[in-house]
Amino acid sequence: MFQSARLTLTAWYLLIIMLVSITFSIAFYQASTQEIQRFMVKIQYSQGERHEFLFHSPPDAELILAELQHVKNRLQLSLVVVNGIIFLLAGAAGYFLAGRTLRPIKLMVEEQNQFVSNASHELRTPIATLRAEMEGSLLEKHVSDKEARKLIASNLEELSRLQELSNSLLQLTYLHKNGRNNYNEEVPLNSVIQTAYKKVSPIAKKKHITFTLARVPGYIQGDKQSLIEVFVNLFENAIKYSPEKTTITLTSKTEKHTIRLSLIDQGDGIASDDVPHIFERFYRTDKSRSKADGYGLGLSIVKKIVTAHNGIITVTSILGKGTTFVLTFPLA
Ligand code: ADP
Repeated sequence: MFQSARLTLTAWYLLIIMLVSITFSIAFYQASTQEIQRFMVKIQYSQGERHEFLFHSPPDAELILAELQHVKNRLQLSLVVVNGIIFLLAGAAGYFLAGRTLRPIKLMVEEQNQFVSNASHELRTPIATLRAEMEGSLLEKHVSDKEARKLIASNLEELSRLQELSNSLLQLTYLHKNGRNNYNEEVPLNSVIQTAYKKVSPIAKKKHITFTLARVPGYIQGDKQSLIEVFVNLFENAIKYSPEKTTITLTSKTEKHTIRLSLIDQGDGIASDDVPHIFERFYRTDKSRSKADGYGLGLSIVKKIVTAHNGIITVTSILGKGTTFVLTFPLA
């Protein structure tokens, strides 16, 4: 598909360049030969009238006429050759430029296809589980109350996974489409962090994980709900990938016009091969696949929101020791 689009685009480039070149060549040829033509007519006329003063003898005139015709022919040939060379060069350059023009579109389509195929893949598992469980219980002659409840509970679990996935997918699409649309409030960072913490504290308590949160001064220009989501995601990950009874620390450092927040956990850490990929959509490390729930969409949402706030997020990690996410935002 891209090859044919590339060829079509090359043909269009060529058509435009050749139209300009041929028009210019015709104009140039006309202008150059007009004088020659006029001179030739003059010679022919003077030959007819036997104006001996112009040429010593008729063969002289014929020689000059032939020479002028030769000049015209040579000019014609040169223009044809030049246009031929332009055709070849423009063809090659057009093909190269068409490739460069189409490359970002090609990458975008490939990325989009990858996204759709990953999303379908993730949707397949819970749907298949739901179906298998329901079909299995339909085949049973008698289903006790207890079994029916167990089935419903399991179905609800799968449904909530599906809901989580569809919410994340919608969120990604929304962020992609709207970018910085509603980012005009001055948001107090401390309140964002406290709200996010309140949301995750029940799961932290379950694992006996202690949070040490610095008081974060300052405001940033943005959207409060999206910023809360950033910290909920990061806190949830820190809890999810940390063993029980560990500590998660948030420190803050204000520089001239920016604020730098570091979230440090004492968890599993991320292998150095995985670090460059963890912000990609659907990326999960092998370890997390077998261990914790999730779709690998959280961090890509986080990155999109941080970037939309003109912020930067980076990660450093030591396998088995812990992970540090550093977020830098411009202050309002
Ligand atoms: P998931 O739903 O799998 O948590 P994320 O996009 O939030 O998806 O994270 C991507 C991957 O990055 C995770 O699968 C996990 O392997 C790794 N990861 C993220 N945060 C941490 C962390 N604090 N400690 C260790 N690994 C992490």
